[in-house]
Amino acid sequence: MGVEKEELIKKLIDEGYLRSRKVIEAMRKVPREIFIPEGQRKYAYYDTPLEIGYSQTISAPHMVAIMLEALEIEEDSKILEIGTGTGYHAALAATIAKNGIVYTVERIEKLADIARENFKKLGIKNVVVINGDGSAGLPEYAPYDRIYATCSSPGIPPELIEQLEQGGKLLLPVGRIYGRLILIEKRKDGRIIKKDLGGCAFVPMIGRRGYNED
Ligand code: SAH
Repeated sequence: MGVEKEELIKKLIDEGYLRSRKVIEAMRKVPREIFIPEGQRKYAYYDTPLEIGYSQTISAPHMVAIMLEALEIEEDSKILEIGTGTGYHAALAATIAKNGIVYTVERIEKLADIARENFKKLGIKNVVVINGDGSAGLPEYAPYDRIYATCSSPGIPPELIEQLEQGGKLLLPVGRIYGRLILIEKRKDGRIIKKDLGGCAFVPMIGRRGYNED
């Protein structure tokens, strides 16, 4: 038997990554193993990224915790995620935003399909998965209270700031693979505040505002 969920949560609390009750409760509620290919499920509660196929990974739990704490998602938040993968991070965001909605864009169709199945299995109804390039956001449903990407982009796409609600937050890894996690707040008075939350490693964002496929 590998490391258990409660052990991982305790470790993330002790290390200071998990702080708020709502993020801790969401991590308790959402089973990470569902989002991991069968052969690797024994590693579900190790604090490490894992392969999910198609050269992509499920983010490490401490990075998901850092991002969810920084985003300060509210119960009724309308959220845009860029990079669904198999859906773990979106499932947590949707659990916190229980009266809100998560739109999540994934460029690899097979992963988008797997994510949809995972949400169905868990009875999560407030996530809409869109197959396509999310590097310039998703103008159809804008504005969003929160926008975040789980893939690393070359810069800050201006469309993402445009699609942010006044008072909203945008969280984005910037830089090829080893980048910086950048938090942008669009204040109610229209001011844009930018903070560097530290180093991070993500798969590249591929697309119009992302990197070229190679
Ligand atoms: N949120 C996921 C992370 C998956 S890895 C989790 O919880 O584990 C990041 C994902 O971003 C990959 O599946 C990759 O295919 C996707 N991606 C990369 N560029 C993208 C783009 N321009 N639009 C949408 N998805 C993209």
